[in-house]
Amino acid sequence: MKNLVEFMNPDVVAIKQQEIFKFNALAKANNNVVNMTVGEPDFATPDHIKLAAIHAIINDDTKYTVPEGDHALLRAAANYLKVKYDLNYDPETEMITTLGVTEGVFSTLNALLTTGDQVLIPAPCYTIYGPDAGFDQAEPIYLDTSKSEFKVEPTQLDEVLKTHPRIKVFLFNYPNNPTGVTYNRNELEKLADVLKKYNVFVVSDEIYSELTYSAKHYSFAKILPKQTILLNGVSKSHAMTGWRIGIACGPKEIIEQINKIHELATTAVSTVSQAAATEAFKNGFDDPIRMRKQYQKRRDVLLSGLEKLDFYCPIPDGAFYLFAKIPEGMNQDDVAFAKDLLAKENLAILPGSFFGEGGAGHLRLSYAASMDNIQSALLKLADYVSNYSKR
Ligand code: PLP
Repeated sequence: MKNLVEFMNPDVVAIKQQEIFKFNALAKANNNVVNMTVGEPDFATPDHIKLAAIHAIINDDTKYTVPEGDHALLRAAANYLKVKYDLNYDPETEMITTLGVTEGVFSTLNALLTTGDQVLIPAPCYTIYGPDAGFDQAEPIYLDTSKSEFKVEPTQLDEVLKTHPRIKVFLFNYPNNPTGVTYNRNELEKLADVLKKYNVFVVSDEIYSELTYSAKHYSFAKILPKQTILLNGVSKSHAMTGWRIGIACGPKEIIEQINKIHELATTAVSTVSQAAATEAFKNGFDDPIRMRKQYQKRRDVLLSGLEKLDFYCPIPDGAFYLFAKIPEGMNQDDVAFAKDLLAKENLAILPGSFFGEGGAGHLRLSYAASMDNIQSALLKLADYVSNYSKR
């Protein structure tokens, strides 16, 4: 059994989670830095949700609770998923509460994988996926999406599944961190056909589902319900990253297994946070809509500013990230670029290669940032680019 430190070694997992922490620390150490690295909403948790948590505390709802989560929360979440995405889960048997999607990924992979299995991860990807797979003694196989505008192509998927019979799980994330790309129903159905053919289980991380801009999100679980564990939560939709509430949904027998691992690791999720999330799912249907409008305005400003500076971005129709390609003429790799930009312009953005295969040559900019910061970031970037060409 490997230890966790070994899994977190960037050379072992190839995904540089540690590097991101270091970069964020550098950015935070200087108050003058405009920070566009942040992967969480810059909005406050809505007041009606905070009040529900306060009531839970006052009513002494502060004891150990059942591992699968308060059934009132699960019922509210099931209804929310039905109304928003037309999903039909039985809250009593097909859903549990997790400590954010982060623990959801960990416990789900633990339930599905065993030594020697492989997990297919489209890359670039969210940084925890590789270490999570490794923790189960499974091997992450990365599918480089950079040649197809950062979307998985059905033919590419078929090719890799044909040649890798040990792949048991497809760990999918859309809207995507770090690229901001998302998929329509037709694209998802084509991928589902391939996954069905090879009987590969899908873990679908849809934590950014409320943040899509030109079309409504379509859940993968709608297409392959018996072959999918859906992971979602309130972190991004309701600006609740610190409350740590996620939901895992899927076939009863697998949910039972996930719940056992979840119980072992956590006992259960905080009762106060669960009360808050129940309120979010019951009465917070419009909260994400309000925030989404703001993100969309910011995205449009940032995208058009980047395009004027010749930074190409794949269609960024979801989440709150732009994944910009460094212009051809600039002979600088993404890590050197980001470090130099921070040192010279006090602008912090993340190198694309920190998110693994296919990310090199790109920069991830988060627009979970104020319009002032976005404007200021564009000025700094313009300044950097024009000084660069004079060197
Ligand atoms: N999944 C993706 C793709 C993310 O980008 C993040 C956070 O940045 C998470 C999951 C974490 O979600 P949670 O706060 O529910 O653990």
